[in-house]
Amino acid sequence: MDQTALYDVIIIGGGPAAVAAAVYCARKKLKSLLITESFGGQSIVSDDIQNWIGDPHISGLDLAKKLEAHVRVYPDMVEIKLPEKVVEVKSVKCEEAARICDFEVKTDNGNTYSSKSVIVAAGARRRRLGVPGEDQFEGKGVAFCSTCDAPLFAGKKVAVVGGGNAGLEAAQDLFKYAQEVYILDFGEQLKGDPVTIDEIQKNPKLKGIINNAQTLEVLGDKLVTGLKYKDVKTNEEKTLEVGGVFVEIGSVPNAEMVKDLVQLDPHGQVMINFQHARTSHPGVFAAGDVTDDPYKQNNISVGDGVRAALSAQAYLQNKEKTSPAAEKHP
Ligand SMILES: Cc1cc2nc3c(=O)[nH]c(=O)nc-3n(C[C@H](O)[C@H](O)[C@H](O)COP(=O)(O)OP(=O)(O)OC[C@H]3O[C@@H](n4cnc5c(N)ncnc54)[C@H](O)[C@@H]3O)c2cc1C
Repeated sequence: MDQTALYDVIIIGGGPAAVAAAVYCARKKLKSLLITESFGGQSIVSDDIQNWIGDPHISGLDLAKKLEAHVRVYPDMVEIKLPEKVVEVKSVKCEEAARICDFEVKTDNGNTYSSKSVIVAAGARRRRLGVPGEDQFEGKGVAFCSTCDAPLFAGKKVAVVGGGNAGLEAAQDLFKYAQEVYILDFGEQLKGDPVTIDEIQKNPKLKGIINNAQTLEVLGDKLVTGLKYKDVKTNEEKTLEVGGVFVEIGSVPNAEMVKDLVQLDPHGQVMINFQHARTSHPGVFAAGDVTDDPYKQNNISVGDGVRAALSAQAYLQNKEKTSPAAEKHP
């Protein structure tokens, strides 16, 4: 790996957004470096992804293999650094008036790579309960994506932890499949949109809204059998027997490496212009779940990645034409 090279683009991530960006950068003959901790992205833990367009059923692991294989088709154009975690992206050598800069990308093992542009596609990680049983039963009854996994809970009794819009939408997804649905929320009342709250309350499959509930433990044997929680008003500990627990308490964008470079929204997501995937800093583009795009899905991330790559190419072409340095050295 060449630490003295100046890449056209450095792509951060190894999920659908980053891989799509890398494939398009390669085909546009942009000299690229993809840095990722792993390939596949968040749905790698899913046994059966049913909405990856073109594949009615694919496991998260198989999707990860396909993504990695696709980007490795272009070894001359896309170098890959794996596993490596980006910890900071800095702008350097800026032509101040136009804010056209090069970038230095630092990683957790002390390497620094340089580029003319950056695509941030580092995705997000699910906010977790942090209670016993959550890790142990992930994929065995503990789930984090109702759009993806609700059909796997057909006929079951299921709890959704989280009473915001994500939790309510998860309950709506589950009504189509599950036998009984319970919503547990830490607060005194649900925090989602009133219209959605009204709608879900009319559904006969909603068997309970449990407020003031602090989840203490996910219970199980080989699969989830229940949930232990505390009523924070009475301090009473209770158990709810369920075969599934959907954790919908938000996600955390992996945007820490650009927090001092680009504008983040109040949730820590990279704010982008949706037409061009531009961030607030020229030359820095973002795609997929790390952004403030409200829809978090594999197919959307792929489209976002393509958009970011095409925009990076347009930026680089324009930069070559307009930069004062280019005029001095035609
Ligand atoms: C359990 C689960 C199941 C899901 N199932 C489905 C489904 O069935 N269908 C669907 O459409 N969507 C599904 N989703 C949502 C989907 O996974 C995401 O929308 C999608 O993965 C986002 O892609 P992304 O490329 O933006 O980011 P991610 O998938 O989050 O990928 C980010 C990548 O960046 C790497 N990375 C992170 N930080 C750094 C760093 N600092 N330096 C270097 N690399 C870094 C990670 O290793 C990862 O490879 C699911 C999500 C979850 C959590």
